Amino acid sequence: MTITDIVRKRIAETFKHRCCYCQMPAKYIYAPMQIDHIIPVAIGGTDDEANLCYACPRCNSFKGVQVSAIDPDSEETVQLFNPRQQNWSEHFQWSDDGTSIIGQTACGRATVFALQINIAVAVEFRKILVSAGWHPPKSEP
Ligand SMILES: [Zn+2]
Repeated sequence: MTITDIVRKRIAETFKHRCCYCQMPAKYIYAPMQIDHIIPVAIGGTDDEANLCYACPRCNSFKGVQVSAIDPDSEETVQLFNPRQQNWSEHFQWSDDGTSIIGQTACGRATVFALQINIAVAVEFRKILVSAGWHPPKSEP
């Protein structure tokens, strides 16, 4: 797999330098952001830019090779959020205190669940950013 620096930079800009799943800005992540294959290479996904998105290491590692997950409400298996084909704001919203992401659809709920987006350490970190006035992001994803 070879994703050039030019493509990497363009993907970062496309996703406003924020994780396409949890919306955490790259500037608050110690580790380098990652290029995620929306459809994993392991199950036939390509390096085509339409299959690539910008993700934090935490979301990317929890996503792994999943493309679907269980919606905790309906208990049905649904496709995970596709940041290239779907609109973040239609599937997710911030909790009133800005520390958690609430799935608005089966896809959103399954993605929050599968990627453990509201894992305690992430919520604690968001609390610090909220208290500093740096979170959640002010602009649309
Ligand atoms: Zn993330």
